[in-house]
Amino acid sequence: MRQRVARTTVSLAALAALSITLAGTPASAEQRSTTKSPTAVGHGGAVATVDADATRVGLDVLRKGGNAVDAAVAAAATLGVTEPFSSGIGGGGFFVYYDARTHQVQTIDGRETAPAAMNANSFDGLTFNDAVTSGLSVGVPGSPATWQEALDRWGTLSLAQALTGGRQVAGRGFVVDSTFRQQVADNADRFNDFTSTRDLYLPGGSPPAVGTIFKNPALADTYQQLGERGVNWLYDGALAREIVNTVQHPPLAPDANRTPRSGLMTTSDLAAYTAPLRQPTHVVYRGLDVYGMAPPSSGGSTVGEALNILDNVNLSAMTRTQALHYYLEASALAYADRGAYLGDPSAMTVSLNQLLSQGFADERFCNIDPAHAMTKPVPAGQPDGSYDTDCNGTADTTVRTDREGKSTTHLTVVDRWGNTVAYTLTIESTGGNAMVVPGRGFLLNNELTDFNFPNAAGQPNAPGPGKRPRSSMSPTIVLDHGSPLLALGSPGGSTIITTVLQTLINRLDLGMTLPQAIAEPRATQRNTASVQAETTFDPAQRAALEALGHTFTVTPPPGEIGAATGIEFLADGRLLAAAEPVRRGGGSAGVVSP
Ligand code: GLU
Repeated sequence: MRQRVARTTVSLAALAALSITLAGTPASAEQRSTTKSPTAVGHGGAVATVDADATRVGLDVLRKGGNAVDAAVAAAATLGVTEPFSSGIGGGGFFVYYDARTHQVQTIDGRETAPAAMNANSFDGLTFNDAVTSGLSVGVPGSPATWQEALDRWGTLSLAQALTGGRQVAGRGFVVDSTFRQQVADNADRFNDFTSTRDLYLPGGSPPAVGTIFKNPALADTYQQLGERGVNWLYDGALAREIVNTVQHPPLAPDANRTPRSGLMTTSDLAAYTAPLRQPTHVVYRGLDVYGMAPPSSGGSTVGEALNILDNVNLSAMTRTQALHYYLEASALAYADRGAYLGDPSAMTVSLNQLLSQGFADERFCNIDPAHAMTKPVPAGQPDGSYDTDCNGTADTTVRTDREGKSTTHLTVVDRWGNTVAYTLTIESTGGNAMVVPGRGFLLNNELTDFNFPNAAGQPNAPGPGKRPRSSMSPTIVLDHGSPLLALGSPGGSTIITTVLQTLINRLDLGMTLPQAIAEPRATQRNTASVQAETTFDPAQRAALEALGHTFTVTPPPGEIGAATGIEFLADGRLLAAAEPVRRGGGSAGVVSP
């Protein structure tokens, strides 16, 4: 069944009902505006991020004539200051770009990369927690190269210009909100173990108080020098040596509680880093073209496979329970295939084309019983080019429980020409590996914990030299007849995929506006015994799904899954920017001309 999705107009009253204003502590005019709204409608370009400063900086770039790529890099650099525990120049990400002139979607793979000395056994003997706070889990950062690549290819600003807004926020300071404080508090034990991190984020021994002004002059200086000297300063210059020194000799405090394993990264690893263009993933859903991020992210293929499975049924004609049942079952099937087949593109054992073929999805669809939930975990399918409906799967022996990260951040930008960016970036754990590069004001990632370990030799996602760990990041752009309809993404570790999938279904099938689709309580089924649902998930739906055989657990405190942002092109020509109304303290959406 392939029905089309009608573009809708959005009632302003409905938006107003969802829109809240978060009043913060008054700050001096130059420090920042602390009011933020999760929805905005208007013309001339739009920005949606989790943070008021980042959205303001992005909108400033658009107002001054910059394009969506310029604004996305400027907003990302600002997030590196105000959301430093989720993103920054010590991390990586995936940049998906629609070019309004060529009507093409292109992507940059800015994933962190393992050192040449890493192998499948490098994490042996380490618990997962030991790996989290270690030099060993630091991948070569990809964000600075991504920014330079995006600006060179599609932008109009220099890197120095794009860093200006973030540099100013770092230098002048910004108002600490409860999310920032909580993220420091949650990491206080780790942060306290490293002199550089405690000095920056635990001034006087405690997390910065809500409402106070937080400045990061070292990061302002780092941005200044990065702009002046260029990214090679970080990849092949003095800053590269400082990063390697931090990885190999963690700046441990004398009273530290842990002895972190040092890392394998060398200056040659940094010098070898590239942020390559990758073909986006592409599926057709309800007649729309859905583009996402290819491996090393599993985001585009897993969202895409689930959509292909769901294109067999008309969710809009079903009861909500039936639609949710199909959503959960399609997610589980797609996750089984993700676990079995996805990893660094050089290590993939099946073709992405087969994983994303409609024939494979149709074969997978036949596993779903409308009246009974499948027993989880379900086995992986066989994307071998020969498809039938007898549903003979092969047991997936690689099923593992994915962690639900709360870190990472997603931003969405559209400019006046219709150029569109969906960009998800991260340092992996909230707080990364907890090590600030001394004197430089930014945290290093621990992205290499996204590899499977221990005992993963031979698997696509085993650690290996120069490999990129499998990601779940799912920056997504949806086109309607070659023009953008929607762009979105979310943080949330392996729940990113289901958050993006559920938000797409909410918007495209279940009659919700984009803000409603983002606000809707979430449930995630990643081929695990139970569905994990937010505390706000409708108990009546839960009971009805339990009657079909699904079991539920509630997502751990704070009970939230993801923190999405997106932008929709409305039928009347306006842009609708949307961020979370509540999760993570609410995000910030803005338009150039309301
Ligand atoms: N490292 C994760 C990934 O790339 C994201 C982490 C998170 O969102 O918490 O999929």
